[in-house]
Amino acid sequence: MNPNKKVSLYTLGCKLNFSESSSIARMFVDEGYARVDFNDTPDVYVINTCSVTENADKKCKQLVKKALKVNPDAFVAIIGCYAQLKPEEIAQIYGVDMVLGASEKFKIIEHINNLEKFEETKVVASKIKEVNTFVPSYSKGDRTRSFLKIQDGCDYFCTFCTIPLARGKSRNNSIEETLKVAKDVAKSAAKEVVLTGVNIGDFGQGDDENFYELVKELDKIDGVERFRISSIEPNLLNNDIIEFVSTSNKFMPHFHIPLQSGSDKLLKAMRRKYLSDLYVDRVATIKKLMPHACIGVDVIVGFPGETEEEFLITYNFLNELDVSYLHVFTYSERQNTTAIKMDGVVPKEERAKRSKMLHILSDKKRRAFYEQHIGKTYHVLFESEQHENYLNGFTDNYIKVKVPYAKELENQICSVTLKGFDTDGVVEVENVKIVAENILTI
Ligand code: SF4
Repeated sequence: MNPNKKVSLYTLGCKLNFSESSSIARMFVDEGYARVDFNDTPDVYVINTCSVTENADKKCKQLVKKALKVNPDAFVAIIGCYAQLKPEEIAQIYGVDMVLGASEKFKIIEHINNLEKFEETKVVASKIKEVNTFVPSYSKGDRTRSFLKIQDGCDYFCTFCTIPLARGKSRNNSIEETLKVAKDVAKSAAKEVVLTGVNIGDFGQGDDENFYELVKELDKIDGVERFRISSIEPNLLNNDIIEFVSTSNKFMPHFHIPLQSGSDKLLKAMRRKYLSDLYVDRVATIKKLMPHACIGVDVIVGFPGETEEEFLITYNFLNELDVSYLHVFTYSERQNTTAIKMDGVVPKEERAKRSKMLHILSDKKRRAFYEQHIGKTYHVLFESEQHENYLNGFTDNYIKVKVPYAKELENQICSVTLKGFDTDGVVEVENVKIVAENILTI
């Protein structure tokens, strides 16, 4: 036990990292640590890293420097994707005491006890092929919604991606085990649960216990008002799942579906599991069953071989598609990927130009999607944090709204009418009424 010891966790990257950091933080608290903010001179820093882009690596180095400025005697542990991919590189960073890989991060308490600062940097990272345990996690108390990890790893090996090398093969717990964790989340204050992982549609890896079966079981859980599917591969988003969401009161009409490119030539070079026609079909099926549904798209610009023509194919493809917003990623060379050896490298300034064009297109799409719903009435979950005398929240179909601050609306699901836009493009609402809760019956 470590009474009076303080720990601070800093998380980079995705929802999955946040859910894991939150679970690891609870392990420290169970051990008697007090969880404090980054600048409250903690005794231990845990930095949960990402490695999707070069930048992510740099951020880790900057954070270690910042931590040692706050407390030069602090013990610094690095976990997460960067730690699994380049443990030795991180061990060279001045001030790092421990580096833990994908399967060791959950045993951090064991590894940390009795370790003093400036002893030999301890590096424990199994070979990724040996990483095959699934450890559930969920975020708690950090936000209005809880990120529930239901799956980890990936077997797809898209040519630009290092995640399979950082997180290992696709794996998950049984539906029964997953429901147990979801019921724990249901006891927390979170009204919305975001299903997260690396390739969540691959839950069950094709077994009978698949993502569709899991969704149906989760829908029956009491105490959770809303479920949101964080992101799902188009080839795994089948009609059963779409139809189920269209009839469910709990699964939100919001789909985030990675596309990456609108060009079939590039989709093949990326080793994606579908071509553009399947994506068109998924969007059409969603919009036929849920015309008000929100569809978000991941897209990469500047992938090797993306000529001006290929880029315009993607631009026009997205421009014509009935989708609501884009997440635009600029291709970043990653070691140990197939794409790094490909010809047709796109100059950085050209990548930046294309990224800008797609960001403008995304703003146009989002505005057009929001405009379709002005005057209509939706349910909104208001956040618990005040922003400049306002509370923000999202409708079920992921429209961002704001309301003048009122304590009683914090973390409440309300019925609202979408009134119009304010200067920063957020939607203002009226006729705000708190909706009766779906009380948890134990
Ligand atoms: S599906 Fe492709 S892009 Fe997504 S995590 Fe797996 S390998 Fe990476």
